[in-house]
Amino acid sequence: MNSIKHPELSTIFNEDEERVNWHDDTLWWIRAKRDKAAHGISEWEILRETASQIKDNVLSNLHQYLIDFEAKAQANGIVVHWAANAEEHNKIVLSLLQKKDIHQMVKSKSMLTEECHLNEYLEKNGIDVIDSDLGERIVQLAKEPPSHIVLPCIHKKKEEIGQLFHEHLGTEFGISDPQILTETARLHLRETFLTRRSALTGVNFAIAETGEFVVCTNEGNADMGAHLADIHIASMGIEKLIPKKKHLSVFLRLLTRSATGQPITTYSSHFKKPRKGQEMHIILVDNGRTVQLGRADFRNSLKCIRCGACMNTCPVYRRSGGHSYHNAIAGPIGAILAPNLDMKEYADLPFASTLCGSCTNVCPVKIDIHDQLYKWRQVIVKEGNTTAAKTMAMKVMDFTLSSPTRYKLAGKIGRWTIKHAPFTVNNKLNLWFKNREMPEAPKESFSEWFKKNK
Ligand code: SF4
Repeated sequence: MNSIKHPELSTIFNEDEERVNWHDDTLWWIRAKRDKAAHGISEWEILRETASQIKDNVLSNLHQYLIDFEAKAQANGIVVHWAANAEEHNKIVLSLLQKKDIHQMVKSKSMLTEECHLNEYLEKNGIDVIDSDLGERIVQLAKEPPSHIVLPCIHKKKEEIGQLFHEHLGTEFGISDPQILTETARLHLRETFLTRRSALTGVNFAIAETGEFVVCTNEGNADMGAHLADIHIASMGIEKLIPKKKHLSVFLRLLTRSATGQPITTYSSHFKKPRKGQEMHIILVDNGRTVQLGRADFRNSLKCIRCGACMNTCPVYRRSGGHSYHNAIAGPIGAILAPNLDMKEYADLPFASTLCGSCTNVCPVKIDIHDQLYKWRQVIVKEGNTTAAKTMAMKVMDFTLSSPTRYKLAGKIGRWTIKHAPFTVNNKLNLWFKNREMPEAPKESFSEWFKKNK
């Protein structure tokens, strides 16, 4: 079945116009904060270019950096595992927990585990998982996936969060004061941190030179979980490597400025070796990344540092909501990564863009996002993954545009129809009409006008 989920799911999101406007405004506010933070340092463009070049080097030598990282990490006392796909990743996590007879885990935000659907897998196998990032915990309580990679519950208003806390964490009915809600969450999570014997974190950057990895959070939740647990498991996409420790400063300066407009993430925690008596494991996950690396037009997408800036600026994301992308990673970058995983299932996503290029302009690692979206459209159409209606429409367009005579005739028929029989286009069969009527037709075509006026 060809996928058309994005238009359908955005229609649902758009039913609540007030929420859409609020979502749009909130994300634009964050985008504006990002602009201020970026323009606040004169070397911003140099940093972007440097980061992009470092990542070019990483992608060209990924095999070597992975081997270097593995050797150094093992020498530091970290156990390194390799997972070819999501299933293998999930099985490794489960087996590590089962070996120690652990049934509860605290997790710090990790989009990779969302990509692998780890929570569902562990829960089916009798492991209770608590997400410790506040936003993630909120969507977990709501039984929803995150709608944004940095701001997982950005689609929820504080009143809705208050209601969830009332139902699950026992706050008074009607309380929506962020201060009170945060304090409640802190107490609830503190209990979790103190009692869970296992912790899983994501990885923002792994350093090939030293075999250490860095996790960035604003709440310190990764540290709280990992420091108290007997076993710390880190899940990492293989593209998260950087060659040397000195390169870290480039990325740390770009990451949070691009994500939230802050000068630096509150906690950038370095994990190099397990503390005495603790086990530390890292799982290096491929899950389609080497396939993407082999696609010359799309390999640059692996440079992504998951800042979310492309989502905050995207006019389509802001007005359609993260869930409409039906994928762990939403927005423009998700629309490039998802078809690599399953071209049929995510064939709709590269079309969910105006191709305005704003995503490319804000990307801190200079990924050519809108060009890649345009290229995916061509691949998807060529591979026959569009809907029957779209395939037919493209054929008609091709037939019309490939002959000047047919093009001129079509223009004449179109202008006549809109003027004399508007009901034939302004009706429910025309998806365009759902949100707008066809514009008034001009009296003549541009070339007719030009002939008269040149
Ligand atoms: S593609 Fe660029 S802007 Fe989008 S999340 Fe990744 S790094 Fe950030």
